[in-house]
Amino acid sequence: MTPRVPRLSILWVRRTSASSSGATPVVEDGGRPSPRESLTGRTSVQTSRLWRGGVGSERVGAHWLLLADSSPGVARTTPPSKRWARDATWETIMKKPRAAVERRCRKQASSKAGRKKHALTCSQAKPSAPDGLAEPQEEVVLQASVSPYHQFRDAAEVTVFRESLLSWQRARWTWTGGRMLKWPTLQDLASASLEEVNQLWAGLGYYSRGRRLQEGARKVVEELGGHVPRTAETLQRLLPGVGRYTAGAIASIAFGQATGVVDGNVVRVLCRVRAIGADASSTLVSQQLWSLAQQLVDPARPGDFNQAAMELGATVCTPQRPLCSQCPVQSLCRAHQRVEREQLLTSQSLPGSLDVEECAPNTGQCQLCAPPTEPWDQTLGVANFPRKASRRPPREECSAICVLEQLRALGDARILLVQRPNSGLLAGLWEFPSVTAAPSGQCQRKALLQELRSWAGPLPASRLQHLGQVVHTFSHIKLTYQVYGLALEGQTPVTTPSGARWLTREEFHTAAVSTAMKKVFRVYEGQQPGTCKSSRRSQVSIPASRKRPSPGQQTLDSFFRPHIPTDASRLNSATQ
Ligand code: SF4
Ligand code: ZN
Repeated sequence: MTPRVPRLSILWVRRTSASSSGATPVVEDGGRPSPRESLTGRTSVQTSRLWRGGVGSERVGAHWLLLADSSPGVARTTPPSKRWARDATWETIMKKPRAAVERRCRKQASSKAGRKKHALTCSQAKPSAPDGLAEPQEEVVLQASVSPYHQFRDAAEVTVFRESLLSWQRARWTWTGGRMLKWPTLQDLASASLEEVNQLWAGLGYYSRGRRLQEGARKVVEELGGHVPRTAETLQRLLPGVGRYTAGAIASIAFGQATGVVDGNVVRVLCRVRAIGADASSTLVSQQLWSLAQQLVDPARPGDFNQAAMELGATVCTPQRPLCSQCPVQSLCRAHQRVEREQLLTSQSLPGSLDVEECAPNTGQCQLCAPPTEPWDQTLGVANFPRKASRRPPREECSAICVLEQLRALGDARILLVQRPNSGLLAGLWEFPSVTAAPSGQCQRKALLQELRSWAGPLPASRLQHLGQVVHTFSHIKLTYQVYGLALEGQTPVTTPSGARWLTREEFHTAAVSTAMKKVFRVYEGQQPGTCKSSRRSQVSIPASRKRPSPGQQTLDSFFRPHIPTDASRLNSATQ
């Protein structure tokens, strides 16, 4: 499994080594902006990658961070010296001083009716817990029934963990770029069309996240007076598509709330550090991990701490071959201790009297330890933690899809795309006409022709050719596209009903289409599989008889013609 890059650190962790003005890179103590940065207000958020190309779509939390930053009238709770990423809005933000927030808190407190609101606002202004430990949340109740082996001993041990992690992160930070966001404010994103959002998101996958991000922006602008909710609880409750992780990340990084976050990387780190071997996806383990994250988060620097934990999982405590020798929390890691003990036991050099901490040895009672049926695997080392959940295989579906192209004079060919419904899988994206199909060739052709005619009018059925297939795995569906092509002469009359478009090839490549559609189009173009960038999510197969010479061997003219094979495959010979 490839480690995920931490979602939030891209925004907040990296310092540039050279600004556009050629400033010398400065890494200062405590993560403070350099004097030059403070003076210029130069910001540190690299966002171009976020919106285009370089970022996995799951980083919706990162987008929210940027938008939270751009929200007008935001009273920040974390002083500039505690934050790495600054932007030009900081000056504006600081015009609403904390004193004003506190005055408002006092006023609200004097009113019985305002008590509830007071609690919310004051907690936003002062999120830190007084005793050096973050405020406990409901899951902390769980601690009473958890073996001490899976917990931190005391506040001192928690402090060592925090400081080790934060020091490690400080030494790693680099700064990489400037602010280049297409929609720099919530208002900008709220007023964009779904089509524009999909177009920009195209190729990143998880398309519902782009849509949800925009829905959230609209909600903030239209219903919340332009103010992003500022606590994890209100973020999760009020914004569509914001779950517990995203809410905690925004609240801690953008608003300084001392709230922990648990993503896949943090799951791995915490399971190893506290030797949690039970199924990490179970409710019990999940609760324990959130509880630990809440206990560990640094009340003074919650955003930095959360990013450091995620980054540790992404770069050091990786799924395979973790770099324990470079790990800042190795001395506190029970998985590492367990590996050392097992090695000593194997070499039979462990003294019988050695005091090695274990969890309920030989009882098999602990619900956070691996069940007795799953013994320690010497070959895995620390990667015995966390235990992988058995995943349900994705549902298999089949679709027949057709690239319908109308040839015109001077190579000005156009292809037909239709828009998917505004909800469900790939909502609002454009695709070639398709039908859900049974694997049988005859049924596929008939259904597909009917679909094509419903969009484009009468069509010559004999020209419909089966070209190959594309298998694409979405998060929960493995979809096999049987790819067909149909090329029309220029004079063939075609219709363009609402929900359909005829696009040139150039327009197709910049349209809001999914990666799967681009693969389908490549099959239509007849490129050899080796010319496609394959991924784990997509497989392209073209019948050997259709494989064409490399582009260098093709004539220019061939680029402007559809590449329909002359051979008749089994599917093509089926009854029209
Ligand atoms: Fe992960 Fe190894 Fe560090 Fe433990 S010591 S947290 S297993 S990298
Ligand atoms: Zn246990």
